[in-house]
Amino acid sequence: SNRIMLGPLVAAIDQGTSSTRFLVFNAKTAELLSHHQVEIKQSFPKEGWVEEDPKEILQSVYECMDRTCEKLTQLNIDISNIKAIGVTNQRETTLVWDKETGEPLYNAIVWLDLRTQSTVERLINKTPGRNKNHLKTGLPISTYFSAVKLRWLMDNVEKVHEAVLSHRAMFGTVDSWLIWCLTGGKKGGVHCTDVTNASRTMLFNIHTMDWDPELCKYFDIPMEILPKVRSSSEIYGLMVSKSGPLTGVPISGCLGDQSAALVGQMCFKDGQAKNTYGTGCFLLKNVGTKPVMSDHGLLTTVAYKLGRDKPACYALEGSVAIAGAVVRWLKDNLGIIQTSTELEELAADVGTSYGCYFVPAFSGLYAPYWEPSARGIICGLTQFTNRSHLAFAALEAVCFQTREILDAMNQDSGIHLSQLQVDGGMTSNRLLMQLQADILCIPVVKPSMPETTALGAAMAAGAAEGVSVWSLTPEDLTEVTSEKFEPQINPEESELRYARWKKAVQRAMNWET
Ligand code: ADP
Repeated sequence: SNRIMLGPLVAAIDQGTSSTRFLVFNAKTAELLSHHQVEIKQSFPKEGWVEEDPKEILQSVYECMDRTCEKLTQLNIDISNIKAIGVTNQRETTLVWDKETGEPLYNAIVWLDLRTQSTVERLINKTPGRNKNHLKTGLPISTYFSAVKLRWLMDNVEKVHEAVLSHRAMFGTVDSWLIWCLTGGKKGGVHCTDVTNASRTMLFNIHTMDWDPELCKYFDIPMEILPKVRSSSEIYGLMVSKSGPLTGVPISGCLGDQSAALVGQMCFKDGQAKNTYGTGCFLLKNVGTKPVMSDHGLLTTVAYKLGRDKPACYALEGSVAIAGAVVRWLKDNLGIIQTSTELEELAADVGTSYGCYFVPAFSGLYAPYWEPSARGIICGLTQFTNRSHLAFAALEAVCFQTREILDAMNQDSGIHLSQLQVDGGMTSNRLLMQLQADILCIPVVKPSMPETTALGAAMAAGAAEGVSVWSLTPEDLTEVTSEKFEPQINPEESELRYARWKKAVQRAMNWET
């Protein structure tokens, strides 16, 4: 057969909140050659609870790998050219499994989950404000991060409690679970995580770059259940035989999804930033090799460490809990659209929210407010309001939330971003992109290859020592082609709408108190 001759290829597993993808890139050109995507079920067993099935997550990875390999074969591309695999994942989502049976001991508790709210309130009362913990972790105490979810599992799930006592429990975020399973599971799987994922647990000290014994004591977590922390780019282990044609390929890149997008958008310089629109919305700005603490409600987090001997880079992050999730809510809970793509048409029909404001504070508000007791509201309704206006207001909500974060970032640094680089599933919505440019009053720039999260993980894997098929030196990085959305409304109108949004946010605050 006429096998197409390509140079080395690198694959990425992108395990997100709403779906899993497997993608294969050409390491020389960064071209995406083939991919497959599978949606992940979410369950909501109680109000505020969000869970996913760890086995389904693992199966979805295998399925995506198999399908992608089939597609490559059909394209006459030799799978043995795949030299490395990178992992990128939904962050903070918390799992515990039994290292002897390999079985998960409970569902994965998804980052959005609110079950730990009372624990969090108690801890905040005990250690209010920006305390010593915050200075070590870069994070406020919130339901968002893994430590409290892990604490809940140890306190409420008998099997977890027992496994911890009998030294059989392993904790991990999704990256650790996948790498452990793919490198052999109970038969010698590697129990590790990378610095970016570790920095989202509230157990990791971003200055020493390791698990912090005091933090573990504070949350009463035994350190023996934690994975080993590694850099974001090094060989962690090899794929075992269950992985079919990919058996023996090194897994050599690991980054939390938002860090991976920062890398995939080539934001390697101090001051460069990107915003990713997925289930939530995450704006990260590279601040260089020294962590910077925010005075305006942003998180300090590890951006990446691309090699054992390379320096760590840090980022300031503004996280919004609900972005694409509001679209899913309009679809699944209200049924006013059948597919996410329908939302754009519906909103474009009217081109205005007609004074309707929608604050989707379903899980409280994250940055810059960090208010767990906020709840969603829709206000400004009149007899005239219809589902199109509601759809428009939902899109605007995503843009206003991003504006709040960008304002906080500008205030922290005193430097104003001149344009915003964007990516993520929601950026296929062109109306959203235009609205975002209008509301920020700066251009929004979207790369033509939208899978930047996966690209970042592939770059980390391909650049790892011992793989070395992807060069990250600036002159070797391929130029990305992109599309630019320029602001089209006048700034006064934009300010007026933003001021109304802020009023709506005030009404969503302190709902439950
Ligand atoms: P994640 O990485 O969090 O799994 P993705 O980047 O895959 O998320 O984006 C999926 C999210 O984007 C979903 O919440 C979906 O509702 C939303 N979405 C996808 N396409 C559109 C669209 N055309 N308009 C609005 N929202 C969309």
